[in-house]
Amino acid sequence: MHNIYIELIITNWCNKRCQYCDLDFSHKSFSYSNLDKFIEFLKNNKANYTINFFGWEPLLEFDKLKYFLENSKSYVNKYSIWTNWILLNKTKILYLIKNKVSIYLSVDNVKKWADIDLSFLSHYKNDIKINFINDPDYLDNSIQVFEDIKMHWFKNISFMPVFSTKKWSTSSLYKLWNIYKYIKSNSDDMNIIFFKYFNWVSIDKQFILDTDLYFYSDLDSLLWLQKQYKNINLALKEEINKKTTLFSLLDKEIDLEKLLKLYNIEDLLKLIFLIPKSQGVLSENSIIDNILNWW
Ligand code: SF4
Repeated sequence: MHNIYIELIITNWCNKRCQYCDLDFSHKSFSYSNLDKFIEFLKNNKANYTINFFGWEPLLEFDKLKYFLENSKSYVNKYSIWTNWILLNKTKILYLIKNKVSIYLSVDNVKKWADIDLSFLSHYKNDIKINFINDPDYLDNSIQVFEDIKMHWFKNISFMPVFSTKKWSTSSLYKLWNIYKYIKSNSDDMNIIFFKYFNWVSIDKQFILDTDLYFYSDLDSLLWLQKQYKNINLALKEEINKKTTLFSLLDKEIDLEKLLKLYNIEDLLKLIFLIPKSQGVLSENSIIDNILNWW
Protein backbone atom coordinates (compact mmCIF):
# COMPACT_ATOMS: atom_id res chain seq x y z
CA MET A 1 0.00 0.00 0.00
CA HIS A 2 1.18 3.54 -0.76
CA ASN A 3 2.35 5.86 2.02
CA ILE A 4 0.44 9.08 1.45
CA TYR A 5 0.84 12.29 3.41
CA ILE A 6 -1.95 14.83 3.01
CA GLU A 7 -1.92 18.30 4.54
CA LEU A 8 -5.48 19.40 5.11
CA ILE A 9 -6.01 23.15 5.09
CA ILE A 10 -9.19 23.32 7.07
CA THR A 11 -9.24 27.15 7.18
CA ASN A 12 -7.44 30.15 5.65
CA TRP A 13 -7.83 32.25 8.78
CA CYS A 14 -5.40 32.73 11.66
CA ASN A 15 -5.68 34.30 15.09
CA LYS A 16 -2.06 35.52 15.03
CA ARG A 17 -0.14 37.88 12.77
CA CYS A 18 3.50 36.76 12.97
CA GLN A 19 5.68 39.44 11.45
CA TYR A 20 7.56 36.99 9.17
CA CYS A 21 4.27 35.56 7.86
CA ASP A 22 3.43 36.71 4.36
CA LEU A 23 0.17 34.82 3.93
CA ASP A 24 -3.16 36.25 2.87
CA PHE A 25 -5.92 35.70 5.40
CA SER A 26 -9.47 34.94 4.41
CA HIS A 27 -12.40 33.43 6.26
CA LYS A 28 -12.65 30.52 3.82
CA SER A 29 -12.89 27.14 5.49
CA PHE A 30 -13.99 23.58 4.81
CA SER A 31 -17.70 22.90 5.14
CA TYR A 32 -18.96 19.74 6.85
CA SER A 33 -20.28 18.44 3.55
CA ASN A 34 -16.89 18.92 1.87
CA LEU A 35 -15.21 17.12 4.78
CA ASP A 36 -17.65 14.28 4.10
CA LYS A 37 -16.48 14.23 0.48
CA PHE A 38 -12.86 13.97 1.59
CA ILE A 39 -13.72 11.16 4.01
CA GLU A 40 -15.48 9.38 1.15
CA PHE A 41 -12.31 9.76 -0.95
CA LEU A 42 -10.19 8.21 1.85
CA LYS A 43 -12.68 5.39 2.24
CA ASN A 44 -12.69 4.58 -1.48
CA ASN A 45 -8.92 4.86 -1.99
CA LYS A 46 -7.15 2.69 0.58
CA ALA A 47 -3.57 3.70 1.52
CA ASN A 48 -1.40 4.32 4.59
CA TYR A 49 -2.58 7.87 5.14
CA THR A 50 -1.05 10.47 7.41
CA ILE A 51 -3.23 13.56 7.66
CA ASN A 52 -1.68 16.76 8.95
CA PHE A 53 -3.96 19.65 9.95
CA PHE A 54 -1.82 22.46 8.70
CA GLY A 55 -1.73 26.32 8.42
CA TRP A 56 -3.25 28.80 8.87
CA GLU A 57 -4.62 27.97 12.38
CA PRO A 58 -6.55 24.67 12.34
CA LEU A 59 -7.78 24.95 15.95
CA LEU A 60 -10.04 27.81 14.84
CA GLU A 61 -12.17 25.05 13.32
CA PHE A 62 -11.87 22.61 16.20
CA ASP A 63 -15.43 21.28 15.88
CA LYS A 64 -14.85 20.47 12.21
CA LEU A 65 -11.49 18.93 13.04
CA LYS A 66 -13.22 16.69 15.61
CA TYR A 67 -15.90 15.79 13.11
CA PHE A 68 -13.29 14.85 10.54
CA LEU A 69 -11.23 12.82 13.04
CA GLU A 70 -14.18 10.89 14.34
CA ASN A 71 -15.44 10.02 10.89
CA SER A 72 -12.17 9.25 9.13
CA LYS A 73 -10.48 7.10 11.81
CA SER A 74 -11.06 3.81 10.01
CA TYR A 75 -9.24 5.01 6.88
CA VAL A 76 -6.31 6.99 8.33
CA ASN A 77 -3.17 5.65 10.05
CA LYS A 78 -1.80 8.80 11.66
CA TYR A 79 -2.85 12.38 12.35
CA SER A 80 -0.87 15.44 13.30
CA ILE A 81 -1.58 19.12 13.81
CA TRP A 82 0.58 22.25 13.48
CA THR A 83 -0.77 24.91 15.78
CA ASN A 84 0.26 28.23 17.33
CA TRP A 85 -1.02 27.23 20.83
CA ILE A 86 -3.41 30.21 21.45
CA LEU A 87 -6.48 27.95 21.48
CA LEU A 88 -4.72 24.94 22.92
CA ASN A 89 -6.41 24.47 26.32
CA LYS A 90 -6.41 21.35 28.50
CA THR A 91 -9.61 19.93 26.96
CA LYS A 92 -8.25 20.19 23.44
CA ILE A 93 -4.84 18.80 24.34
CA LEU A 94 -6.41 15.79 26.07
CA TYR A 95 -8.76 15.24 23.14
CA LEU A 96 -5.87 15.31 20.64
CA ILE A 97 -3.71 13.01 22.77
CA LYS A 98 -6.60 10.57 23.27
CA ASN A 99 -7.12 10.48 19.52
CA LYS A 100 -3.40 9.94 18.83
CA VAL A 101 -2.92 13.25 17.05
CA SER A 102 0.75 14.35 17.21
CA ILE A 103 0.86 17.97 18.32
CA TYR A 104 3.42 20.29 16.70
CA LEU A 105 3.52 23.62 18.47
CA SER A 106 4.97 26.56 16.54
CA VAL A 107 7.01 29.02 18.58
CA ASP A 108 9.47 31.59 17.30
CA ASN A 109 12.49 33.57 18.36
CA VAL A 110 10.72 36.92 17.95
CA LYS A 111 8.87 37.36 21.23
CA LYS A 112 10.87 35.04 23.48
CA TRP A 113 7.79 33.13 24.68
CA ALA A 114 5.99 36.34 25.65
CA ASP A 115 2.74 34.99 24.22
CA ILE A 116 3.20 31.35 25.22
CA ASP A 117 2.16 29.81 28.55
CA LEU A 118 5.09 27.48 28.67
CA SER A 119 4.52 26.24 32.20
CA PHE A 120 1.01 25.11 31.33
CA LEU A 121 2.13 23.43 28.11
CA SER A 122 5.06 21.71 29.77
CA HIS A 123 2.58 19.47 31.64
CA TYR A 124 2.16 17.78 28.25
CA LYS A 125 5.83 17.93 27.25
CA ASN A 126 5.92 14.27 26.15
CA ASP A 127 3.06 14.77 23.73
CA ILE A 128 4.08 18.09 22.21
CA LYS A 129 6.79 18.63 19.63
CA ILE A 130 8.13 22.13 19.22
CA ASN A 131 8.53 23.78 15.81
CA PHE A 132 11.11 26.40 16.68
CA ILE A 133 10.92 29.05 13.93
CA ASN A 134 13.99 31.27 13.58
CA ASP A 135 13.58 34.69 12.01
CA PRO A 136 16.98 36.01 10.80
CA ASP A 137 16.24 39.46 12.32
CA TYR A 138 15.84 38.01 15.84
CA LEU A 139 18.64 35.45 16.04
CA ASP A 140 20.04 37.14 19.16
CA ASN A 141 17.04 35.63 21.00
CA SER A 142 17.43 32.10 19.66
CA ILE A 143 19.71 30.60 22.30
CA GLN A 144 17.63 31.98 25.14
CA VAL A 145 14.45 30.59 23.59
CA PHE A 146 16.16 27.25 23.07
CA GLU A 147 17.27 27.22 26.73
CA ASP A 148 13.68 27.99 27.82
CA ILE A 149 12.43 25.06 25.77
CA LYS A 150 15.03 22.86 27.45
CA MET A 151 14.27 24.18 30.91
CA HIS A 152 10.64 23.13 30.43
CA TRP A 153 11.79 19.65 29.46
CA PHE A 154 10.54 19.54 25.92
CA LYS A 155 12.60 16.89 24.15
CA ASN A 156 11.43 17.00 20.54
CA ILE A 157 12.31 20.09 18.59
CA SER A 158 12.37 20.98 14.91
CA PHE A 159 14.67 23.92 14.31
CA MET A 160 13.32 25.93 11.35
CA PRO A 161 14.91 28.93 9.69
CA VAL A 162 12.47 31.34 8.02
CA PHE A 163 12.88 30.95 4.26
CA SER A 164 11.36 33.02 1.44
CA THR A 165 9.80 35.85 3.40
CA LYS A 166 13.02 37.12 5.05
CA LYS A 167 16.54 37.77 3.74
CA TRP A 168 19.62 36.20 5.36
CA SER A 169 22.61 38.56 5.48
CA THR A 170 26.20 37.34 5.91
CA SER A 171 26.09 38.29 9.59
CA SER A 172 22.80 36.42 10.17
CA LEU A 173 24.28 33.33 8.46
CA TYR A 174 27.26 33.57 10.80
CA LYS A 175 24.92 33.85 13.82
CA LEU A 176 23.00 30.84 12.55
CA TRP A 177 26.23 28.85 12.44
CA ASN A 178 26.97 29.76 16.08
CA ILE A 179 23.42 28.90 17.19
CA TYR A 180 23.66 25.58 15.39
CA LYS A 181 26.97 24.78 17.12
CA TYR A 182 25.51 25.75 20.51
CA ILE A 183 22.40 23.61 20.06
CA LYS A 184 24.40 20.66 18.78
CA SER A 185 26.65 20.66 21.81
CA ASN A 186 23.89 21.33 24.37
CA SER A 187 21.17 18.90 23.39
CA ASP A 188 22.45 15.46 24.38
CA ASP A 189 19.17 14.01 25.58
CA MET A 190 17.00 15.83 23.05
CA ASN A 191 15.70 14.85 19.66
CA ILE A 192 16.43 17.78 17.35
CA ILE A 193 15.64 17.93 13.66
CA PHE A 194 17.12 20.76 11.62
CA PHE A 195 14.76 21.79 8.82
CA LYS A 196 16.79 22.67 5.80
CA TYR A 197 15.36 24.39 2.72
CA PHE A 198 15.78 21.19 0.79
CA ASN A 199 15.27 18.10 2.97
CA TRP A 200 15.59 15.46 0.27
CA VAL A 201 12.66 13.44 -0.87
CA SER A 202 10.76 11.21 1.50
CA ILE A 203 9.22 7.94 0.38
CA ASP A 204 5.77 9.28 1.18
CA LYS A 205 3.96 11.11 -1.57
CA GLN A 206 2.81 14.46 -0.28
CA PHE A 207 -0.38 16.24 -1.27
CA ILE A 208 -2.16 19.33 -0.01
CA LEU A 209 -5.92 19.64 0.04
CA ASP A 210 -6.85 23.29 0.27
CA THR A 211 -10.15 25.00 1.09
CA ASP A 212 -10.60 25.54 -2.66
CA LEU A 213 -10.99 21.70 -2.74
CA TYR A 214 -8.05 21.06 -5.08
CA PHE A 215 -5.37 18.49 -4.45
CA TYR A 216 -1.84 19.80 -5.06
CA SER A 217 1.36 17.74 -5.18
CA ASP A 218 4.21 18.98 -3.03
CA LEU A 219 7.42 18.32 -1.09
CA ASP A 220 7.52 19.38 2.57
CA SER A 221 4.88 22.07 1.84
CA LEU A 222 7.57 24.10 0.15
CA LEU A 223 5.82 24.80 -3.11
CA TRP A 224 2.28 25.17 -1.94
CA LEU A 225 3.16 27.36 1.03
CA GLN A 226 5.59 29.56 -0.89
CA LYS A 227 2.98 29.96 -3.59
CA GLN A 228 0.78 31.70 -0.98
CA TYR A 229 3.42 34.31 -0.18
CA LYS A 230 2.82 37.79 -1.54
CA ASN A 231 6.54 38.25 -2.27
CA ILE A 232 6.73 35.40 -4.83
CA ASN A 233 6.30 36.76 -8.34
CA LEU A 234 3.06 36.11 -10.14
CA ALA A 235 4.51 34.26 -13.13
CA LEU A 236 6.24 31.80 -10.82
CA LYS A 237 3.08 31.30 -8.78
CA GLU A 238 1.27 30.46 -12.00
CA GLU A 239 4.02 28.05 -12.99
CA ILE A 240 3.79 26.32 -9.57
CA ASN A 241 0.03 26.22 -9.91
CA LYS A 242 0.25 24.68 -13.37
CA LYS A 243 2.71 21.99 -12.27
CA THR A 244 1.23 21.09 -8.89
CA THR A 245 -2.55 21.41 -9.27
CA LEU A 246 -4.05 17.98 -9.67
CA PHE A 247 -7.72 17.16 -9.30
CA SER A 248 -10.65 18.78 -7.57
CA LEU A 249 -12.20 16.82 -4.75
CA LEU A 250 -15.52 17.49 -6.51
CA ASP A 251 -14.40 15.71 -9.68
CA LYS A 252 -16.38 12.49 -9.95
CA GLU A 253 -13.52 10.76 -11.78
CA ILE A 254 -10.94 11.44 -9.10
CA ASP A 255 -9.05 8.58 -7.46
CA LEU A 256 -5.70 8.06 -5.77
CA GLU A 257 -4.12 6.28 -8.74
CA LYS A 258 -4.82 9.34 -10.90
CA LEU A 259 -3.26 11.65 -8.31
CA LEU A 260 -0.18 9.43 -8.12
CA LYS A 261 0.18 9.29 -11.90
CA LEU A 262 0.25 13.09 -12.06
CA TYR A 263 2.75 13.36 -9.19
CA ASN A 264 5.86 14.41 -11.09
CA ILE A 265 8.90 14.50 -8.82
CA GLU A 266 11.16 16.07 -11.45
CA ASP A 267 8.82 19.04 -11.87
CA LEU A 268 8.57 19.48 -8.10
CA LEU A 269 12.36 19.44 -7.65
CA LYS A 270 12.90 21.96 -10.45
CA LEU A 271 10.33 24.32 -8.93
CA ILE A 272 11.80 24.05 -5.46
CA PHE A 273 15.11 25.42 -6.70
CA LEU A 274 13.49 27.89 -9.09
CA ILE A 275 11.81 29.82 -6.24
CA PRO A 276 15.00 30.90 -4.37
CA LYS A 277 16.70 31.43 -7.74
CA SER A 278 13.98 33.87 -8.79
CA GLN A 279 14.32 35.70 -5.46
CA GLY A 280 18.14 35.80 -5.76
CA VAL A 281 18.59 33.76 -2.53
CA LEU A 282 19.64 30.38 -3.89
CA SER A 283 23.18 30.63 -2.47
CA GLU A 284 21.94 31.84 0.96
CA ASN A 285 19.55 28.87 1.12
CA SER A 286 22.29 26.46 0.18
CA ILE A 287 24.62 27.97 2.84
CA ILE A 288 21.83 27.49 5.42
CA ASP A 289 21.40 23.88 4.29
CA ASN A 290 25.15 23.29 4.57
CA ILE A 291 25.28 24.81 8.05
CA LEU A 292 22.37 22.66 9.23
CA ASN A 293 23.98 19.60 7.74
CA TRP A 294 27.38 20.10 9.30
CA TRP A 295 27.77 17.26 11.80
S1 SF4 B 1 2.93 32.00 10.73
FE1 SF4 B 1 1.22 30.66 11.25
S2 SF4 B 1 0.60 31.40 13.30
FE2 SF4 B 1 1.83 33.03 12.38
S3 SF4 B 1 0.33 34.39 11.37
FE3 SF4 B 1 1.08 32.94 9.81
S4 SF4 B 1 -0.43 31.28 9.84
FE4 SF4 B 1 -0.69 32.44 11.75
